[in-house]
Amino acid sequence: MEEKSAESIDQAFHDKEENIFEALFQDLGKHPVESYRDEVGIIEKSATNALNCLEKWMAPTKSRLPLLFFPAKGEVISEPLGVVLVFGSWNFPISLALDPVIGAIAAGNTVMLKASELAPRCASFLAETIPLYMDSNAVKVIVGGVDVGEQLLQQKWDKIFFTGSQRVGRAVMSAAAQHLTPVTLELGGKCPTIVDTLSSPSDIKTMVKRVMGGKWGPCSGQACIGVDYILVEEKFAPTMIDLLKKTIKTFYGDCPIDSENICRIVNTNHFERLHKLLEDPLVAASIIHGGSLDKEKLIIEPTILLNPPLDADIMTEEIFGPLLPIITLNHIQESIEFINSRPKPLTIYAFTKDETFMRQIVSETSSGSVLFNDTIVQFACDVLPFGGVGQSGFGRYHGKYSFDTFSHEKTIMQRSFIIDLEPRYPPWNDFKLKFIRLAYKYDYFNLLLLLIGLKK
Ligand code: NAD
Repeated sequence: MEEKSAESIDQAFHDKEENIFEALFQDLGKHPVESYRDEVGIIEKSATNALNCLEKWMAPTKSRLPLLFFPAKGEVISEPLGVVLVFGSWNFPISLALDPVIGAIAAGNTVMLKASELAPRCASFLAETIPLYMDSNAVKVIVGGVDVGEQLLQQKWDKIFFTGSQRVGRAVMSAAAQHLTPVTLELGGKCPTIVDTLSSPSDIKTMVKRVMGGKWGPCSGQACIGVDYILVEEKFAPTMIDLLKKTIKTFYGDCPIDSENICRIVNTNHFERLHKLLEDPLVAASIIHGGSLDKEKLIIEPTILLNPPLDADIMTEEIFGPLLPIITLNHIQESIEFINSRPKPLTIYAFTKDETFMRQIVSETSSGSVLFNDTIVQFACDVLPFGGVGQSGFGRYHGKYSFDTFSHEKTIMQRSFIIDLEPRYPPWNDFKLKFIRLAYKYDYFNLLLLLIGLKK
């Protein structure tokens, strides 16, 4: 690369930070602080990390081989897959596009990046800026909609890395099957947040701020790892709800629709989709805070719903917006069964100080990740893998995991001409069968001891 490319991304971000802020504001109404936190900063950190660690990541892994193979040596080396196709997403149109690109070029691949058409200024920014800083033979950006996506999928790639919906994820997988192309699918779903009954006022305050950070903080809830809904004990719900309402006022003022700290919904289609979720009369009746929508500005006020019907769309579809259902339970342990009766989430958040309950959540549920006592921050942690399981996707990336995702781990074994065990070759006889049985059971050294009678 590779080194030059990651340095170039860093340089581009340094030179063009204001342009990125402007594009993100135009596409999503993101405040520059949010844009730096979730996009620019993430990419600068990721590029620096790749540059600092690349030599270590590329180093072959030597393996000590079992004595059965003596004399021989073995190692695993990472080789590039070739030409990879990366689909970016519109909700974090810079970071979710470039983070996989960093991993792909670090691993020595060339990349075609399909930017999302739903964030058109960011897509244009990427298409215009990347060629100024990076080798166009190594990284190309393509702008376009569904038709372009479909055409790209008809080509043969060495890897497809897709971030997006489950619906399109299926189309990606079936297109990839034609060429037996490996895929990584970073999909979505509903991320539950368990809130155990907390007693310390300062813990409750921190929990509420962190829940809000995970619900309305990232792109007005238009985030794959955003808090989708809360599970809480009935007796603790009023305390939590009261503080949530107060904190919404602190964060977004008396009139959140006018707040500069709120992102807008990406387009009219998504706005209408969210509006429709609230139109169900039983759902509308469950709104206990907010509920105002401004169609012109494409802004929806932070909205809390208490116990909407569980079979309503808001509780069966990924919300991907600023609506927060709270479901009350008699006992917090019921949250495990609640989660297990639905598709495997991308992430589970749980606020609790009960270590036994923590272990229970980890061992009795399945999700891409589990984060205790916070939301969202796991995404920014380069040393932990990020990815889904089941319907929330498969494959993983970030830091070294990105490098591995875009590499083929090639096995190298080198044998010597010394020692050639005859029993592995025909003509077969009983002795050879016995010998092979023992060889698989014991390593070479123990086999030798056995044969010379020093071992039983
Ligand atoms: P989407 O699936 O509609 O679109 C993603 C990309 O696919 C776009 O570039 C689009 O042009 C292209 N596309 C759409 N239809 C296509 C087709 N038939 N053939 C080929 N390409 C096609 O997703 P979206 O609405 O942009 O994103 C929202 C979804 O993405 C949510 O479900 C969210 O949870 C998920 N998401 C996941 C992550 C993650 O890291 N796991 C991150 C962000 C978003």
